[in-house]
Amino acid sequence: MPHHSPSKLDAAAATRLLAWYHAHRRAMPWREQPTPYRVWLSEIMLQQTQVATVIPYFERFLARFPDLPALAAADEQAVLKLWEGLGYYSRARNLLKAARQLMAKHGSQFPETFDGLRTLPGIGDYTAAAVASIAFGEAVPVVDGNVLRVYTRRHVLADDITRPQTRAAVFATLQAWFKHLPSTTVFGDLNQALMELGAMVCTPRNPQCGNCPWATTCAARAAGTPEAYPVKRAKAAVPHYQVAVGVVWRQGKLLIAQRRPEQMLGSLWELPGGKQQPGETLAATVRRELREETGLVVKVGAELATVRHAYSHFRITLTAFTCHCPSGRARPLASAAVRWVRPAELAQLPFPTATRKLFPAILLPIDGA
Ligand code: SF4
Repeated sequence: MPHHSPSKLDAAAATRLLAWYHAHRRAMPWREQPTPYRVWLSEIMLQQTQVATVIPYFERFLARFPDLPALAAADEQAVLKLWEGLGYYSRARNLLKAARQLMAKHGSQFPETFDGLRTLPGIGDYTAAAVASIAFGEAVPVVDGNVLRVYTRRHVLADDITRPQTRAAVFATLQAWFKHLPSTTVFGDLNQALMELGAMVCTPRNPQCGNCPWATTCAARAAGTPEAYPVKRAKAAVPHYQVAVGVVWRQGKLLIAQRRPEQMLGSLWELPGGKQQPGETLAATVRRELREETGLVVKVGAELATVRHAYSHFRITLTAFTCHCPSGRARPLASAAVRWVRPAELAQLPFPTATRKLFPAILLPIDGA
């Protein structure tokens, strides 16, 4: 059986990859003027999110908060509102925290090194390496899912990429490669080239090896086994929850509750409700949750709408019920706040995507009333 030893990462590998990148890279708004602020914002948005989804969010965000001082002075609800629909909302809250920290303790400047950036809220190895290399030219590699796929294929590395040790080993090998390249190398471009290669050519299915600048030096291609890499531990089954929420109107206003900041979807608004417990009907869930969350005793009426939504670690089916509750004061017993709002105000507040999906069905009776 032929043995396909992977070709060393050398200066020629960098030259070929960079030439390919300069010929084929996609235009992206943050690639045009890679200031630290723009690179940082784009990299935070790009965590867990596709480029095409990020572009309009990035542009809206920059129009509203063009620089660090503008962002640091922002209201958290305004930041969350601009993030609405992008998911992983702790990214938005950390963005604001980091901006305020930079203004207060760093003289409104970004630290210029990987280690310095790593100390900011919401900045892990990936983002620190991306900002340090792209905005400041530091020779530090980015190791994301795209890079791991390209690397494990080129080097037929069969280690489980979900293990931190595997990521650390890939980081160390790429770091050693970077250190041996000429100091004139544009390391930000080299990182972006690796990520772009993974996104555009070395794709999870049907990689376009014929168009790859590393085709002649890739061990998986030589072996005819690119799709065998990367190796990942099988994911645990994703749990599914039934969630029921109450639609309570009073004098033309709808009752909403704000999630506590430390919760998932923290500081976003939602309809009061929660997870169905064993042996409970969904109507009973709504009654119990309304009492526990707001202190209101409600009479549960018609089912208004059901939507499904998938999060990273679980899925939900969300059902909204009309609730009648003529009296009693709503109190924030399990949330940060409760409010009665007019339908027109809903557009100004940040809501999770699943809750937003319910609005057309919920607001319909009001239009007809
Ligand atoms: S030759 Fe194919 S498998 Fe190897 S790095 Fe290029 S696209 Fe990926």
